[in-house]
Amino acid sequence: MDKCIFCQIVDKEIPASVVYENESCIVFRDVNPKEKTHLLVVPKKHIRTIDDLSDDDDMLMGAMMLCARNVAKLIDLDGYRLQVNVGEGGGQEVYHVHMHLLAK
Ligand code: AMP
Repeated sequence: MDKCIFCQIVDKEIPASVVYENESCIVFRDVNPKEKTHLLVVPKKHIRTIDDLSDDDDMLMGAMMLCARNVAKLIDLDGYRLQVNVGEGGGQEVYHVHMHLLAK
């Protein structure tokens, strides 16, 4: 099976504008921003959708939230929205779990 685009970014096989990274997640700028600040918080582990999470992924989901908080502090946002699209009906385009971090 072909490696997904976000796994290729995680593995530095294709470029991205990375603003934050730690052992579990990477955060980079959305290539097609919908707001002034539009980042994607992406776990390094490949999981297709929120529906594919296993019970063991609870720590990883917490790590994504903390990552969003850290990066918001780092770039000095005074408020932001977090959004996760799930599946076709939820408007998901890239099938590797990710969270949008949006701010005006
Ligand atoms: P979603 O609809 O939740 O799956 O969102 C996927 C997002 O990934 C979209 O906002 C795209 O603009 C963004 N995207 C797709 N490919 C890339 C890429 N190579 N680098 C940065 N963002 C990307």
